Amino acid sequence: MAKYYVNNSAQVNGDHEVHKDGCYWLTLVHSKKDLGYHSNCKSAVLEAKKTYMKSNGCIHCSKDCHTS
Ligand SMILES: [Zn+2]
Repeated sequence: MAKYYVNNSAQVNGDHEVHKDGCYWLTLVHSKKDLGYHSNCKSAVLEAKKTYMKSNGCIHCSKDCHTS
């Protein structure tokens, strides 16, 4: 299990990126929402979508859940 967060600020394309705890890019996120513990990024992105319809996995830490 790993802890996941979603960026409260959208990317330029409107996506809210989902990051795994420890991701370098997470340190640059100004404001994030705690998604709790998940066994994989897919359930983390589903959780994030309850808040942000346009949620997407970070290409660096959650590549399996990244869609372009
Ligand atoms: Zn990340």
